[in-house]
Amino acid sequence: MKLLLPTSTAGSLPKPSWLAQPEKLWSPWKLDNEELTEGKHDALRVSLQEQQQAGIDIVSDGEQTRQHFVTTFIEQLSGVDFDKRKTVKIRNRYDASVPTVVGPVSRQRPVFVEDAKVLRKQTDKPIKWALPGPMTMIDTLYDDHYKSREKLAWEFAKILNQEAKELEAAGVDIIQFDEPAFNVFFDEVNEWGIAALERAIEGLKCETAVHICYGYGIKANTDWKNTLGTEWRQYEEVFPKLQKSNIDIISLECHNSRVPIELLELIRGKKVMVGAIDVATDEIETPEEVADTLRKALQFVDADKLYPCTNCGMAPLSRSIARGKLSALSQGAEIIRKELQEQL
Ligand SMILES: [Zn+2]
Repeated sequence: MKLLLPTSTAGSLPKPSWLAQPEKLWSPWKLDNEELTEGKHDALRVSLQEQQQAGIDIVSDGEQTRQHFVTTFIEQLSGVDFDKRKTVKIRNRYDASVPTVVGPVSRQRPVFVEDAKVLRKQTDKPIKWALPGPMTMIDTLYDDHYKSREKLAWEFAKILNQEAKELEAAGVDIIQFDEPAFNVFFDEVNEWGIAALERAIEGLKCETAVHICYGYGIKANTDWKNTLGTEWRQYEEVFPKLQKSNIDIISLECHNSRVPIELLELIRGKKVMVGAIDVATDEIETPEEVADTLRKALQFVDADKLYPCTNCGMAPLSRSIARGKLSALSQGAEIIRKELQEQL
């Protein structure tokens, strides 16, 4: 990518109110059947337009065609019974009623490939597509078949690899795996989580990213963050091994976060999507605040490897706030681009 500091978002953007109830996770669809398919694709076009108008360089579908970043993918797989539910603790944080793995998991058909083709047709800009990571997928299910988190993650990694290869063929430039679970289960991440992720990207020629964050700005996450103390050092546990992995890009949370910025030194050499927009507040950052976070990150990330981004998805925010935050992101990146050019 020739442009310095190309901007992007971590993934989800708010949906229009005619498609789903705004400012809500797992919001039910307001349309059915063909109307729903058409509505999702219309929303995808609107979301793309908003990103382009805000000056975002690497665009996405804003996750307009999915209800939830993990569940919507799993719903399309066989081997998971959505009627047989159990209550489990997700990411050691909150109870949720989840579906049960009842047999071998497999992908009967492509999940997002048609949506990616729709996006590819609309723009010449680089596009990024997000998929859930294997460890985050197993953490939202009750497993009554494999009875091994590692085995199930490995099966999901193979399925994700099939989907990723077809997304690549559809013209996706960057495939991102969302792994908030990497911030919680450190031993497993190091024992097999990163290996499973590398299985998911096996044979891909496009760029690959992993997104690790402290979650959406919902109450369960905010309560959890309040227990983490003054310094959030979770990244320290997984960065050394990630630095040695085949993943090209690491997407993480920085702005307004208690993550010590010097932890970025542990992934020196990787491209880094630096979260410079807080998704847990309605307050819109000023471009100068964004620039300040990027400036701090530049101490530990080489300029040609720094990708300004949001801390996480913005699905639960209002559309106008999300638009404001997107503009602040690109204006903040522009401030730093100018500074870097002056230094040349
Ligand atoms: Zn996130």
